[in-house]
Amino acid sequence: MKKTDYSSGDYLKLIEMMKQDEGCVHFLWCCSERRVLPIGDVFIPEDCSNPLDYLRESGMVNNTSMGAFNVFCAQIEEGIFSGSAVNNLNVELQMNLCESAEPSMYHLFALFLRNDSQKITDIQFCIRPCSEKEAFAKQVLNLFSSDKNPKFFQQRINNMLARNRNRKIGFVQFDVERFKLINENLGSEAGDELLQFLNDSLGLICNSEQPFCRLTADVFMVVTPFDDTNELVSLVHMLESKLSDYNGIEYRLIFGICTTENIEGMNTRQMGDHATLARQSIKGNALENIAFYNGDMKTTLQKKKVIEDDMHKALINNEFVMFLQPKHCISNGRIIGAEALARWIHPEKGMISPIDFIPVFEENGFILKLDQVIWESACRKIREWIDKGIEPVPISVNVSREYLHNFDVVNQLLSYIKKYDIPIKLLELEITESIDAEGVDDIVKCMKDAGFTMLMDDFGSGYSSLNMLKTTQFDVLKIDRSFLSEFMDSDRGRKIISHTISMSHDIGLDIIAEGVETSEQAQFLNDCGCNSAQGYFYSKPIPPEDFDRKLIEVNK
Ligand code: C2E
Ligand code: CA
Ligand code: CA
Repeated sequence: MKKTDYSSGDYLKLIEMMKQDEGCVHFLWCCSERRVLPIGDVFIPEDCSNPLDYLRESGMVNNTSMGAFNVFCAQIEEGIFSGSAVNNLNVELQMNLCESAEPSMYHLFALFLRNDSQKITDIQFCIRPCSEKEAFAKQVLNLFSSDKNPKFFQQRINNMLARNRNRKIGFVQFDVERFKLINENLGSEAGDELLQFLNDSLGLICNSEQPFCRLTADVFMVVTPFDDTNELVSLVHMLESKLSDYNGIEYRLIFGICTTENIEGMNTRQMGDHATLARQSIKGNALENIAFYNGDMKTTLQKKKVIEDDMHKALINNEFVMFLQPKHCISNGRIIGAEALARWIHPEKGMISPIDFIPVFEENGFILKLDQVIWESACRKIREWIDKGIEPVPISVNVSREYLHNFDVVNQLLSYIKKYDIPIKLLELEITESIDAEGVDDIVKCMKDAGFTMLMDDFGSGYSSLNMLKTTQFDVLKIDRSFLSEFMDSDRGRKIISHTISMSHDIGLDIIAEGVETSEQAQFLNDCGCNSAQGYFYSKPIPPEDFDRKLIEVNK
């Protein structure tokens, strides 16, 4: 490769020019040779191969700006390695250039210099202190880019549309999942810093044709022209990867996207509303965080509204009832237990499935009320069996994840045991354990210490991991229906099921399979050493009176 001659005319001119710019720090990073050419009395040593690393490690960049700085560095490195269409990048950073001084705001500019084949060979850097006026302007801009002045944002969108008449337009909206929790757990200052980071980073990622704005508290929107859907997807992935990591805070961004091919007659406000619907459609979904708007979403949200309007009345009118699904011993067919599952018997709409209302309740907190109705029904049922002289079997109830940070739940459960005076062993608790649920171990231990049998629900559905088994407090693993149906089809899959079963036995955990739909599945599980099953092969969830008859009949 031809070496760049830094003593040649053009470079000397450039360096002379940079030297004259007083009050600023300049340096030239010769990327292809991985060295720095200091200009004037720069603090970065000449033998430094990556000045970005140097800035990061020197402590000159303030911690609060580290997130934005990292995004900036990633953009630069991407530019060097995979090429970049832009010619310069800049970021505002809180820095401390000399140890004694107070940290203050600086602009960090990078200008890309290219060779004949457009590859970036050098980057000219400039660190310039922000003037008071600029700092003020930034504050004003922040104010403007909030929902207090959507006109400003709208104006920028209109200008962009005027320049991109023949392109498609994407409205990409995102927010921080459970932002409230960050504020509550880490303090509102940390929350504010995170929002600032998101805002600053958007400034780096979006180009001049991509207006962006903070709409409300933690909701942001980027509007972008595009020709091919892949461009849009890569923008979203870029936002996701660059914005999802700030100062070790754990959070997830949720994206809703609405696109149009036809700018004529497009209603910006409506496009934004549709992006909101798409974003809200994923709330509470642990596996997805990006949704495109489609016409159905409106109906889904309308349905959600109907559910929310009716739920309080439903609770008072006892419209929530418990169904029971039997659990069987595979080898002798006897009923060894039941799972309590909620059903909503709506006076006009008939029976509503939990799949429709549980996610809504989990989001709005109403699940806490519903769960208690089902827990109490289960305890009442057990008392009834005992009173009627029917040999009781344990009933397992679902404990929503919303409860898992509230130790009072244990007392609540114990109060039902006491009220109905039943053996604690007859009420079992199902919890969907998941990798992202911190602190769950403590509450599970607390429940277990109180005497409850603990079942890990939906094991193998993607929420749980083998790693959790090392320290788990659970007594029983409940193999998820999807795990069974997906893995049963292949030789390798069957081996995995079989090993999961023997491994759980090895570490002293009982195991039950749910969603067993065929006799082959039951037989296979039994062959692997799993002797308990629940699923349509045996019975669907049924009303408690039907369950009683079945229990007496099967277990006689
Ligand atoms: P889950 O706890 O995993 O419950 C098992 C679900 O699988 C039940 O759906 C059950 O009807 C269904 N199922 C059982 N066997 C089979 C089978 O062989 N094939 C198929 N295709 N499905 C089978 P359901 O009753 O619709 O409940 C859905 C989910 O709603 C439950 O999943 C649980 O997460 C939640 N849920 C239900 N009742 C309650 C409740 O009282 N409290 C809470 N927190 N969640 C509940
Ligand atoms: Ca369950
Ligand atoms: Ca389950």
